[in-house]
Formats: sequence, structure tokens, C-alpha cells
Amino acid sequence: MKTMEHIYINGQFVKPHGTQIQPLVNPTTREPFGSVLLGDEEDAKLAIQAAKAALASFSRTTVQERADMLQRLSDAIMERMDELAEANILEYGAPRMMAVGRVKLAAANFIDSKEALEQFEFVKYIGKAKVVSEPVGVIGIITPWNASYSQITAKLGAAIAAGCTVVIKPSELSALQTQLLTECFHAAGLPAGVINVVNGLGTTVGAEFTRNPDIAMINFTGSTRVGKEIRRATVDTMKRVTLELGGKSPNIVLDDADFAKAIPAAVRSCYTNNGQACVAGTRLFVPEHRLEEVKRLARETVESIKVGLPSEADTVLGPIVTEKQYLQVQHYIRKGIEEGAELVIGGEGHPDGLEQGNFVKPTVFANVTEVMTIAKEEIFGPVLSILTYKTEEEAVAMANNTDYGLGAYISTANLAKANELASRIQAGVVLINGAGFEMKAPFGGFKHSGIGREYGVYGLEDCLETKTITGYDMVM
Ligand code: NAD
Repeated sequence: MKTMEHIYINGQFVKPHGTQIQPLVNPTTREPFGSVLLGDEEDAKLAIQAAKAALASFSRTTVQERADMLQRLSDAIMERMDELAEANILEYGAPRMMAVGRVKLAAANFIDSKEALEQFEFVKYIGKAKVVSEPVGVIGIITPWNASYSQITAKLGAAIAAGCTVVIKPSELSALQTQLLTECFHAAGLPAGVINVVNGLGTTVGAEFTRNPDIAMINFTGSTRVGKEIRRATVDTMKRVTLELGGKSPNIVLDDADFAKAIPAAVRSCYTNNGQACVAGTRLFVPEHRLEEVKRLARETVESIKVGLPSEADTVLGPIVTEKQYLQVQHYIRKGIEEGAELVIGGEGHPDGLEQGNFVKPTVFANVTEVMTIAKEEIFGPVLSILTYKTEEEAVAMANNTDYGLGAYISTANLAKANELASRIQAGVVLINGAGFEMKAPFGGFKHSGIGREYGVYGLEDCLETKTITGYDMVM
């Protein structure tokens, strides 16, 4: 059994004031593997005080000093790569190949922030004015459970590059990963108080971050529901907010695309991270007259995917993170059937031989219409909805007919078409023909998928305040 009973404040691992103990449950077996002692509002306040005290000197460090720190943070993660990956597999049920990728991404995030820092112009001249970029202040980082390592490091990297100090509240479902990650931060040897980490609930530690006047900015990733709560809670203290929220991303396959490639890629991308990815392309739009071919290709793809123990090297789909979330996915599958969608493959219940954990059958629905619940709501499980269109015009209209606007996917053989469609889709990130994410480029959402951008130079800029200095009879 693993017991996580420390939080990290002012460069030290300390016991929290909070007394609530939460069990940690393995999603693969539904058996407890440990527990976490949660911090409370008092702990949040102490962490914020430490970050505030460290800000004065940290905000005046040089670019070179902060670049060195970012390098050390990256190195510290790479040094504990295997342990971090194992924790990701145990705690989230992430398939091994995904877990390793996530750790590498976490380390790379610091290097990307370092490069952004080194190329950034902190002082610019506009007319007679000197325009200076300064750290915004103490940043409260709040993250969800689905990709703790990469989300925390993207936000932390940007903050450090900007010269901001931070308090971090990771998801309460990530205590083991949080512990290891924090040990890496400690090993990197940044000045005490620059990074503080408090385990705790959103309603206690998270809520304290959002209302505390000593926090200048909240950098949040999570659900749209909580994102809206955070936006409301931060109004009185005028905090800046960066919100990375949910999605219901469209995947448009045009008639001229290579279907033998595009359809399997669409299915696999929807199942990324066991179907628990904010950018998952969960709504697949195909030409009406190609539906039978698409259904066949989707079924064949699902049949070729290994659902199994996340520790096994060839597993593509592992379990859902919690039993509660598992039941939620089952609810959506049931809804899809009740509302008249055609079940192509998958369905309710566990896959054969995987009855113990939170395993869901990889599921594909066809003949889904825009009014169905499964076409509208974020499911956060391996459930793909296929919708058909008659014209490209209609495909774009349907793709945009959602409150969300995070990712979008397009498959076509025609470059001009790809550009034209990309310009008409309301989404923060558009990927063409199976392209991967460019992690140095901005990431974020339109509409209810968020506010602000992360990664690279855009992530750094998000953590900076702008000051214009103009002198009378004096060149600044
Ligand atoms: P969640 O919104 O339930 O929780 C996210 C974090 O917010 C947790 O740490 C939680 O403790 C905290 N929180 C909850 N209530 C709070 C409050 N009132 N004040 C302050 N903090 C509070 O999300 P989740 O279920 O952990 O994660 C899944 C969601 O995250 C999905 O909707 C997914 O789309 C989204 N997500 C978005 C992105 C993105 O980059 N856009 C990436 C990953 C996940």
C-alpha cells in the first residue's frame, strides 16, 4: 500500500493540516492500492503565502537563470522516467505506450518553455514608448486527472519562463503521480517557495485558489462546468484566467480522402487515452453514400484493437479512470441505443475476460443525429458517433453546431479544400490527414472549450503582464 501524506510548501514536504483521507483505487482491478491525506483551505493559504514571498526575488531572475531551471526540471523528469510511467499505468490505467509518451512529453514541455523564454523579447519599443513584459504574479494551477504530467508541466513551464511562482492543485485522483512529479521538482533545486503543491479537493483547496487575493491568475484544465465556476469565482479579485475545457471535436472525412487510412485513424484517435481525451474526435462526419464502407472499416479497426491490461505492451485500450466515470460511459452507451442510434460494434457492459476493472467495450454508433445526447455531450470514454452529410456545406455546419470548439480533424486529398474547411471550423486546433500536435504551437479552445492559449511562446505570454513606459523629454 502506498500512502501519500505530504504536500510541498516552501521547498519542503510537510504534513497537511487537512485530515481527510481518500483511498486510491486501481482502475484495472478496482482494488485500493493506497491512500492520500488531503490538504485543506489552511494548507492552500500557506502555499499561497510561500509563493507570494518567493515572488519578489524570483520575478527578477535572469532569462539565463530561469532557462537553467527549466533544463533541470526536464532532466529531473527524464531521470525518473520508468517510475513515473509505472505510476501513470497504476493510477490511471494508461496503456504502457501512452504512459511513456506522457512522461517524455512532460520533460519536453520544459524544454519548449525554455526555448520560448530564450527567444522572447521582454522589452519592445513602440513609438516613444518602452513596452515591458512582466510576470503576472502568483499563478494557481488546477489540473484534471486525465493527463496530469503533461498538463502540470505545460502550465508550470510557462510560469517559470515568465518569472511567476506557483501553487499547484492536481486532481485528487493523481496523488501517486503528484508525489513523484513533486519529487522531481524538488530535485531540480529551484528556490524555496517557487513551486508549491497541495493535494486536496476542488471545493476546498481549489476554491481557496480561486478566491484568494494573492493569486493573480488561475491556469485551469478540466471540465467546462468547473471552468465556468472558476471564472465566476475569480471575478471579485480580477484574476486572469486561462481555461482549457471540454470538447466534442468533429472529424470530417471528405469524399476524396483515403478512407482506408482516415477511418481507422479516426477510430483510434477517438480512443486515445482510453477515450478520455479533451481533443478526442468523437463526432465522425462522412458522406452519406459511403456509410456502409465506413461502418465496415470502423468495425474492422475496433476488432483489431487490443483492449486489455494497461501494463501489456500491445494494449491500446485500458480501463476508465474510476468506477463512477465507467458508469457514466455506460449511461451514454445506453442513451445512444435508447435514442435510436445504430450500434455498429461494442455496447454496454465489460469486454469478455475483463470483468473486474473499469473496462468499456470500444463502441461505435452509426446513424447518429445531431439531436442525440451522444452527439452533443462529452462522454469521456471510447465511444465514437458517426454522422452523415450530403454536402460539405452541411458537414461544416454540423461540425460547428456545438458549444465546444477545441479540436477538429479533416481528411482530404485536396490542400486547398483542407485550408478552406480549416478556416470555417470553429476550433482552436485543426489537424489534417492524421497530423500530430505541434507542441510548440498554441493550444486551446474556442467557445465553451476555453479561454487563452497554452504551450510555447503563447503559453509564456499568457503568464505576462504588459507595462508601457513613456518619458517626457526622455528616451526610455
Ligand atoms: P473537473 O473539472 O471535474 O476537475 C478538474 C480540476 O478542478 C480538479 O483538480 C478538481 O479537483 C478541480 N475543481 C473542481 N471543482 C473546483 C472548484 N469549484 N474550484 C476550483 N477547482 C475545482 O475535470 P476532470 O473530471 O478531472 O477532468 C476531465 C475534464 O477535463 C473533461 O471535461 C476534459 O475535457 C477536460 N480536459 C480538458 C483539456 C484541455 O486542454 N482543454 C485537457 C484535458 C482534460
